Amino acid sequence: MLVRHEDCLFCKLVAEGEHVHRADGFVAINDINPLAPVHVLVLPEHHVDTFRDVGEFGADEAKAMLDFVAETAKRVGLTDYRVVVNVGPGGGQTVFHLHWHILGGGVFEEGRL
Ligand code: AMP
Ligand code: ZN
Repeated sequence: MLVRHEDCLFCKLVAEGEHVHRADGFVAINDINPLAPVHVLVLPEHHVDTFRDVGEFGADEAKAMLDFVAETAKRVGLTDYRVVVNVGPGGGQTVFHLHWHILGGGVFEEGRL
């Protein structure tokens, strides 16, 4: 079931953002503040606050999410890259809708992720 949160920025961007890639209940967008030459965020349409709640996804949905991360990286031209999930404020999370950072394309701003 798709749960939308009215006050959630990423639920809004899932609904009406500019998508780099979209399929199977997931979207990818460019990060507004890129920390690498390519910095894409993967957002599930299904809102959960953090990776801690990933158990709310069914097995098929969880597999589809991982496939979508890998497929998105390929679509944006990356073969080598970094995948990051910040979990909770202490882990650097600032937007409380689960998302996966894909960073690549060369230079990383070390120490910022
Ligand atoms: P995190 O710190 O892991 O919660 O990541 C949140 C990310 O969302 C940061 O890298 C922000 O730059 C990014 N972000 C915030 N607002 C927007 C927006 N309107 N469009 C795209 N990315 C955003
Ligand atoms: Zn949301």
